[in-house]
Amino acid sequence: MPATIVAGNWKMNTTLEEARELAEGVRSLADNTGGVETILCPPAISLSAVKEAVSGSTVKVGAQNMHWEDSGAFTGEVSPAMLVGLCEYVILGHSERRQLFGETDAQINQKVKAAFRHGLKPILCVGETLEERESGQAREIMARQVMSGLDGTVGLDINGLVVAYEPVWAIGTGQAATPDIAAEIMGGSILEALHSLFGPDADDIPLLYGGSVNVGNIADFASQSCIHGALVGGASLQAESFMEIARLA
Ligand code: PGA
Repeated sequence: MPATIVAGNWKMNTTLEEARELAEGVRSLADNTGGVETILCPPAISLSAVKEAVSGSTVKVGAQNMHWEDSGAFTGEVSPAMLVGLCEYVILGHSERRQLFGETDAQINQKVKAAFRHGLKPILCVGETLEERESGQAREIMARQVMSGLDGTVGLDINGLVVAYEPVWAIGTGQAATPDIAAEIMGGSILEALHSLFGPDADDIPLLYGGSVNVGNIADFASQSCIHGALVGGASLQAESFMEIARLA
């Protein structure tokens, strides 16, 4: 049975001081989540402050992105080697990275392999656009994004891998998928792809739903047996709502 995880993706929000305050707020509520693993993913520049703010608590820290090379002439990038010791998790392949910054399946795959090489736990995000869904391609595209994101990882220690299904049309729109739509994809093509790669070990990989998750809808998602938590954007920017979502997950 996979762990239940609720991760907060702060995106490009919070100054250093705001990040510290939000992390302290989360920390002060961390005893009420009944064993649900909570992860805060602040902007890279605040990782250190957030790590310090939650140290000694059960709250974990994750990055939102990274490059795959260890070092070199990549102006503006953050390497996996730099994240080691600062955070345990790293979000990879978020649809905003794919859509706004042109990240390809091949690049995301490099990042996933780099994460495993460095002992970072990847939260691999996959999700179809509205056009792809309306043209009936959602299942096929979700299988492809999982297979290509994880290409070449069979045989590696994939302990810590998390996969997040985030339909692009549900992100930041207030228009969450229905639990049935999410479960159809997550328990269907995503889990099938993971099984074809990892066999029975796939059953231990936490699958998170993401896209307009809030206090009002998390319980319905969490009641699906193939959904093991959530990746939360907007609602993670308030300590109380984020931790209430964790409590209800
Ligand atoms: P949202 O974002 O909860 O604001 O829709 C989710 C995400 O992009 O991870």
